[in-house]
Formats: sequence, C-alpha cells, structure tokens
Amino acid sequence: MPLSPATASLTGKTALVTGSTSGIGLAIAETLASAGANLLLNGFGPAGEIEALRSRLAETYGVEVAYDGADMSDAAAIEGMVAGAKARFGGIDILVNNAGIQHVAPLEDFPADRWDAIVAINLSACFHTTRLVVADMKAKGWGRILNVASVHGLVGSIHKSAYVAAKHGVIGLTKVTALETATSGVTCNAICPGWVLTPLVQKQVDAKAAEQDLSQEEAKRQLVCERMPSERFVSQEEVGGVALFLCSPAADNMTGVSLPVDGAWLAQ
Ligand code: NAD
Repeated sequence: MPLSPATASLTGKTALVTGSTSGIGLAIAETLASAGANLLLNGFGPAGEIEALRSRLAETYGVEVAYDGADMSDAAAIEGMVAGAKARFGGIDILVNNAGIQHVAPLEDFPADRWDAIVAINLSACFHTTRLVVADMKAKGWGRILNVASVHGLVGSIHKSAYVAAKHGVIGLTKVTALETATSGVTCNAICPGWVLTPLVQKQVDAKAAEQDLSQEEAKRQLVCERMPSERFVSQEEVGGVALFLCSPAADNMTGVSLPVDGAWLAQ
C-alpha cells in the first residue's frame, strides 16, 4: 500500500505542543488536531482568549483539548504539566517542543538574564519534557518527538548568541534522543524553519523598521530577502504540514534528522 502523509490518522493519540497559544506552535497543534489528535495546549496569553482557542479547536476537530499554562523555564511546572496529561489522557504520544523566545543584542551587551531565560525555555525545557515522556513512549512502542529548532540550529547570525547556542543544543539533543530510541518505534526529529511571520519575528521587523526608518512592508521584504532565496516567509501552515508528515507512517524510519523549511536559506 502507498504511504500517504495526507491521510495520516492520529485519532486516539494525544499531542502536547508547548508554546501553542501563538504562532508556529498553534499551527502545529491545529494541524495535528485536524488529523484527529487530542491536544494539550501550553503557552501564555489572556485566559479568555486561551479558553476561546481551546473550545474552537475542540469543536472544529471533534477532539479533546486541554490547556496547561506551565512556565517552560520551570522544571517543576513542566513535571506537573506532564503528570496532569498522563492523568487526563493516559499519556503523551506526540511531544512538540516548540515554546521559544528571542533576544537580539551584541555579545558585549547581551543581558545575562536573557541568556539564562533563552537557554531555559528554548533548550532545557526540551530536555525536561523529553525525559518525562520518553519511557512511556518506548513502552508503548510508538511516539513522536518534534523539536522546533530553527535554521539557527545549523548556522549562526550576529546578535543572537543565546538563541543560536540554544538551537544548536536542541539539534544535539534531537540526535541523542533519536539514538536512544532508535529501536523502539519512537522517532525524534528537529524542524528548522527560516523566517515565519509570527509575533516573535514581528518584533524584529518592528526593530528594523524603526532603526532604518523603513515601512513595515519594506522591513519585511529586506528581512526575508537578506536570507531566503524564496523571497517569502515560510507560512505557519507549511510548518504544521511538515510536523504532520513527521507523525505519519511515511516517516517511521526518519529519526535524528534536522529538517530545514527555509526557502533555500541553508542551500547557500
Ligand atoms: P511566538 O512568540 O508566536 O510563540 C511562542 C509561544 O511560546 C507562545 O505560545 C508563548 O506563549 C510561548 N512561550 C513563551 N515563553 C514561554 C514560557 N516560558 N513557557 C511556556 N510558553 C512560553 O513565536 P514563534 O515564532 O511561533 O516561535 C515558536 C518556535 O519556533 C520557537 O521555538 C522559535 O524559536 C521557533 N522558530 C521561529 C521562527 C520564526 O521565524 N518565527 C523560525 C525558526 C524557529
């Protein structure tokens, strides 16, 4: 039988997507729900908006959707969230480590507290969630761990020391997780997007527009064209589709990979 990622069914599976109240995480969560997965949402935002999001996803896709606002810089909160997910859903089948923050500054001015926060949220949280779910996944004989890294997990850019270091770390963790689960039915891969227009990147567009006295459109065009030969942002839905592919049977023997979704950024 041909293996079609388009018809991948995740019915009966539960996905925890960290940082899924916004941007890429929300798009991945919605794509997984559209394939039948129950969801545990996580991330920050106004309580009313998060509840509206939770109920919209549940009603639209006919899946169970829960929310836990655990701060991903807090290992004890992560432990509580995973324990809650086990009690409510019986376990986590798909873990998407997506929560992330950015801070842009030259090394000599980089605030130490921003370094610590970026490493905690973008890297250490991936370790904590993984260590807490991997034994159950191995015991079940199926699991998917998707780490949303970045092109900055594979190359550097100025003024992003903490982010680039954390994302390179995520790719290292992805490889070790893949090796330790290689015979178990569990896979672990990193997705490495180029620019995606989310609130995280909008801040960088705003900074560029202000610094260089550019219009929003010109700041966006320059940001993208400096790095991406495709000359357009990657869409959130495109990243969602790649995540679903990695959860499909076609990707059963794909593990330890860092997959760029970057309009040829890294081909240069
Ligand atoms: P975003 O700002 O739209 O979303 C970030 C999400 O993480 C939000 O839900 C936010 O509430 C959550 N979050 C932040 N701090 C948290 C914390 N301490 N605890 C729990 N949740 C927290 O950003 P995005 O662009 O969608 O980024 C998502 C991921 O994609 C990040 O890991 C980012 O590094 C990565 N990424 C983004 C781009 C891009 O161009 N936007 C490119 C490559 C990789």
